Amino acid sequence: DALHFSVLTLFPELLRPFTQEALLGRAAANGLLKFDLHDLREHAGNRWRKVDDTPYGGGAGMVIRVDVVERALAALPSTPDEVILLTPAGQRFDQRLAEELAGRQHIALLCGRYEGFDARVEGLVTREVSIGDYVMMGGEAAAACIMEAVGRLRPGVIGDEESWRADSYSSGLLDYPEYTRPAEWQGHGVPQVLMGGNHAAITRWRRDRALERTLARRPDLLPGAGLTPEDSSALLT
Ligand code: SAM
Repeated sequence: DALHFSVLTLFPELLRPFTQEALLGRAAANGLLKFDLHDLREHAGNRWRKVDDTPYGGGAGMVIRVDVVERALAALPSTPDEVILLTPAGQRFDQRLAEELAGRQHIALLCGRYEGFDARVEGLVTREVSIGDYVMMGGEAAAACIMEAVGRLRPGVIGDEESWRADSYSSGLLDYPEYTRPAEWQGHGVPQVLMGGNHAAITRWRRDRALERTLARRPDLLPGAGLTPEDSSALLT
């Protein structure tokens, strides 16, 4: 069954290319993923298509109305089993959450603009998610991140299932460095072990580089990485 994403946004055309190009586009064409983009203005309920209003209590900016969101959700082709509000105040998005979301059938992604939504929108969503500790102008880029990270975990979306198991975060370690032709570039060669055919040595080398990189860049990941005794002694040397 296809994993279905419905995006509710003031700028549906911003997301369109993500649903039509590259691997997400191919997965949609093959029926593995399904995307629909909904313009919140269609549910404004007034002929000016106005979805926002000034904040009670005063202050700068405009706030998107909760009744508009309610109507937009009610008009979806089916009832989502996850409704995600994109907000910098949400739970931080990570690989573990991507894996959990990959088990859903229908995910609605609610993208804000301006000052965001009326706080009562909380009652309409299952979860509030942030993609990181920074503030963007709208939720569309965050929705694209979630579709990219979750979509690729569905069977068949990326060619070889092995290719995501070794990726950074899925294995618990950062990915090892990869090389391709040319073998010599501006005085930089390629590690000798990769040029030979000793697969056990290549596997060990890659694991060691992944350990080394994780230790240097993200030591916080090591305790959760499920290290073997061999890994631990490699780290100590
Ligand atoms: N006043 C809001 C706050 O401080 O929480 C920020 C609103 S922001 C300018 C406009 C919209 O961009 C938000 O409603 C949200 O959908 C989206 N957005 C901005 N940064 C985000 C982030 N780090 N993660 C997810 N969505 C974000």
